[in-house]
Amino acid sequence: MIPATVTGRARSGYRHGDARRNRQAPEHHTWSMMKFRCCNPKATSFEYYGDRGIKVCKRWLDSYENFLADMGRKPSPKHSIERIDNDGHYEPGNCKWATRAEQMGNRRAYKIREFCTKGHRMNPENTYIFPNTHRRRCRECFKNWHKNWYEGAQ
Ligand SMILES: [Zn+2]
Repeated sequence: MIPATVTGRARSGYRHGDARRNRQAPEHHTWSMMKFRCCNPKATSFEYYGDRGIKVCKRWLDSYENFLADMGRKPSPKHSIERIDNDGHYEPGNCKWATRAEQMGNRRAYKIREFCTKGHRMNPENTYIFPNTHRRRCRECFKNWHKNWYEGAQ
C-alpha cells in the first residue's frame, strides 16, 4: 500500500511502511534529540539536561509511537517541545508543544518551588544551585540519579 503522503524523496529509494515516514517526521526529530540531550554524556547540552537529572520517561524512551500518541503532532514548525516544570522530566503531563515566545513567557513566570517532583522539600540544605545557570536542583534526586547512572553504566 502506498502511503498517502509520499514526499519528493524518490531518489533515495522507496521503502514502504510507516517506519521510514516516521524517521522523517519533525516529531521524530524532536524525540531523538530529546533522548540524545538527556542520555548521551557527549551531547554538548548534556549539562543542561542529563547532568541536571532531567530524564526521559520510560514510556517515551522505549517508543516513538508512545511519544507521538501522548504529544500529538507539532502544531507548526515553529513549535518545539517544552517542559512545563523546567526541573521536571520529559514525561506525559509535563510536556507540550510551544513556540519560542511562549517558552520565554513560561520562564518569566517560573516560580521557585517548595517541593521537587518526587516530593522532597526544596529547603536550602536539599537544594543545589548550579553556578552557571543558577538553576535549582533537588540534591536527594540528583544523588539518586547519579548513583543509578553510574551503576547502569558499569
Ligand atoms: Zn527530590
